[in-house]
Amino acid sequence: MQPTRQHLIDPEICIRCNTCEETCPVNAITHNADNYVVDASKCNFCLDCISPCPTGSIDNWRVVERSYSLEEQLEWEDLPEQLEIVEDSGDRDEALELEVQNLLQQAHAGQGGRSVRPVSASEPYINLFSRTEPLVGRVAGNYTITNSETESDIHHIVLDFGASAFPVLEGQSIGIVPPGRDESGRAHPIRLYSVASPRNGERPNHNNLSLTVKRVIESESGEKIPGLCSNFLCDLVKGDTVEVTGPFGSTFLMPNAPTANIIMICTGTGSAPFRAMTEQRRRTRPLAEGRLMLFFGARTPEELPYFGPLSRLPASFLDKELVFSRLPGKPKEYVQDRMLTRSGDIARLLQDDETYVYICGLKGMEEGVEASFQKICSDNALNWSDLIATMRCTGRYHCETY
Ligand code: FAD
Repeated sequence: MQPTRQHLIDPEICIRCNTCEETCPVNAITHNADNYVVDASKCNFCLDCISPCPTGSIDNWRVVERSYSLEEQLEWEDLPEQLEIVEDSGDRDEALELEVQNLLQQAHAGQGGRSVRPVSASEPYINLFSRTEPLVGRVAGNYTITNSETESDIHHIVLDFGASAFPVLEGQSIGIVPPGRDESGRAHPIRLYSVASPRNGERPNHNNLSLTVKRVIESESGEKIPGLCSNFLCDLVKGDTVEVTGPFGSTFLMPNAPTANIIMICTGTGSAPFRAMTEQRRRTRPLAEGRLMLFFGARTPEELPYFGPLSRLPASFLDKELVFSRLPGKPKEYVQDRMLTRSGDIARLLQDDETYVYICGLKGMEEGVEASFQKICSDNALNWSDLIATMRCTGRYHCETY
């Protein structure tokens, strides 16, 4: 049976104010003397009920093989744990799981070993679809989001899974199976791509998601060598199909708590998970107490994916620093340089136990970013080595570079 997502209300936190029931446009919320509950057969995931809820009890989700009935929910005193949905052993693709584990281990090396997920992050769902039994996605759109005059060709690709649920969280990646075989007749290794849309989809209420993919073409001794999977993805047209595996990743995840401050530092397609995180906050908690701060680097505005939509987000919602290294007549500036100009603000946030740091993008950015954190700390009487050690083991410092 295909798992689905179910919207639930946490009876421990709910103050029974009736706001959700009044807000729900499809009458999916009801109550008895004890609990407010959501009817899975009516809920269409529109999220209209999320931001009016004064406690956050409404923002709870479980992936289930069988939906919890109204009768069950009406008797709960607390929410059930996320059940591990066991795949048939025949479906498990251990080689793929190992391959992905290695890719993620390399990508997360900069966070100092295995990290833990943020306390308030939702339970992720992983390894649902394997290489032998992939999910087939249909391309619903493929848009170039960088200026065609630039060297950088980055695409926003929307994949639709029709009636199949593919539950992902902000920060997770999916695996794409490149078509064809290598010279020895073996299947190509899968490539990972970060999900760029929030958990309820690029288009809410549909089983879809988006990716941000850079067309990789490298020159070696004058010869141009196109990357296999990125070129396959960037050349797809609406209606084409793609084999998808995953979802993958259980630590680089967004905290759900509205009080969480999130510092996001990225270059290029490293913006994908941060688009997902900011959009999730915007859709569900636009007035959340926690601050969102983004440092985003590219060579020029034309090469910065999502430059237009990002520029339009108000500073009160997203404190953004867009940083360019190749502006004519201007000195080169990188994300780590701009971090230093915001030293005081970053230092203030770092002293808050509710601050989470995420770094994503090219491997080369890690060193400079960490050096800036070190400098910010020493300029503000903080001890970076102690701080990063605490942040790492409490799931508040995450790095994913490739
Ligand atoms: P490959 O075919 O793997 O080639 C890689 C490089 O080798 C290319 O530069 C190519 O030119 C060169 N090459 C290939 N064949 C030869 C040859 N015979 N001789 C010499 N050189 C050769 N990428 C994104 O765009 N967006 C994302 O959101 C994203 N998220 C990621 C998340 C994670 C956790 C990880 C680990 C990676 C992520 N990536 C992302 C990178 C992505 O997985 C791929 O590595 C990337 O798209 C390149 O794959 P490719 O198949 O196009 O290139």
